[in-house]
Amino acid sequence: MTETLIKNADVILTMDDARRELKGADILIKDAVIAAVGQGLSTQGQTVDASGAIATPGLVNTHHHLYQTLTRAVPGAQDALLFGWLQRLYPIWARFGPEEMFVSAQVGLAELALSGCTLTSDHLYLYPNGSRLDDTIAAAQEVGLRFHATRGAMSIGESDGGLPPDSLVEDENAILQDSIRVIDAFHDPNPGAMVRVGVAPCSPFSVSRDLMRDAAILARDKGVMMHTHLAENDEDIAYSLEKFGCRPGQYAEDLGWTGDDVWHAHCVKLDGQEIDLFARSRTGVAHCPCSNCRLGSGIAPVRAMRDAGVNVGLGVDGSASNDIGNLIGEARQTMLLQRVQNGADAMSAREALEIATRGGAQVLGRDDCGQIAVGMRADIALWDAQTVENAGSWDPAALVLAGPQKTRDLFVEGKQVVSDGQMTTVNLGAMIRRQNDLARKLLD
Ligand SMILES: [Zn+2]
Repeated sequence: MTETLIKNADVILTMDDARRELKGADILIKDAVIAAVGQGLSTQGQTVDASGAIATPGLVNTHHHLYQTLTRAVPGAQDALLFGWLQRLYPIWARFGPEEMFVSAQVGLAELALSGCTLTSDHLYLYPNGSRLDDTIAAAQEVGLRFHATRGAMSIGESDGGLPPDSLVEDENAILQDSIRVIDAFHDPNPGAMVRVGVAPCSPFSVSRDLMRDAAILARDKGVMMHTHLAENDEDIAYSLEKFGCRPGQYAEDLGWTGDDVWHAHCVKLDGQEIDLFARSRTGVAHCPCSNCRLGSGIAPVRAMRDAGVNVGLGVDGSASNDIGNLIGEARQTMLLQRVQNGADAMSAREALEIATRGGAQVLGRDDCGQIAVGMRADIALWDAQTVENAGSWDPAALVLAGPQKTRDLFVEGKQVVSDGQMTTVNLGAMIRRQNDLARKLLD
């Protein structure tokens, strides 16, 4: 048995059921699980000095398109609304292959890890030139993050009145067959799973009603979760009303897309009835505040969702629409946007951090992650409390109100993935060079 003792943290923000905050306390990890939390713990194994640091559960990212780290700040997509933005980027993405998928995923995962994230989902919905979901799973296994890959899909191309070019859409039967293949190959339903697989048609406007329904049936047959984009902006609502004759919440409910095994990205435009539907059905929401700002989509009604009892987690969203994959930054942005909408007391820093940790774990169906408590998986972030950003702070809420924006140390399943601000699992410099070479090639 391997033991690691995280010793003498300034404070541990446990996010446990009592939301305990423990000063001058330790965390004992045995193998991959938290074995004890408290003061004066000891070990025969390795000790990590956490003095001068704030400990939190690892942050949980509930929405991303990792491949997009290769298309940040693309001219022509910098200032467009959602549909125009997609039409600018689709032809570029159509030139990706397995290497682009692997390298961009590695870079995106490292960026997340350095911002305190230990568990992320990814939504990969295009598979040009032989790309496979396997490419991103291989990347996550090397970087060492807990990974929920979702097998996305698009099936309605331009010639059928859809938005994506025909070259990026797939046959619906092939989509379902490949979903079965990747679930059988990679999905681990057990506690402590490092890889899970979900089923995730891209959005109601890029696949058929039949595929939405069949995907839900397949997911439930296989016992995996379901994910898609929903109610992202006004164009999205108008499309739903025009093409389906109903709002997105109704469309989702009619096709089996509500329940505690479903989470929807964005939901900026959910109305009161839809919020009640999501609360009643335990349907989760991936809130992506920076992406919503970047694309001018609006402010998601997170305060109303939380008050109604909706499960909400955070997502950085793809790096073509953010363009930063920094999860602690999203916690701050969540807090700020709710205050813009509802006043300065609308959301505390602690609530934002709770959404970023145990909120996200709940959305992804992980009752073994998201808090620092005995029996939980050892997914832990240590934040330097002595940086220039938080110098002079009076309270650990400074982590969200002030900074730092990068984690000092990060543990996933008990293994140290970030040490003193550096990735331990991969050569970050080499990854970045390879990524920039690929970006330059796409530009030519
Ligand atoms: Zn997205």
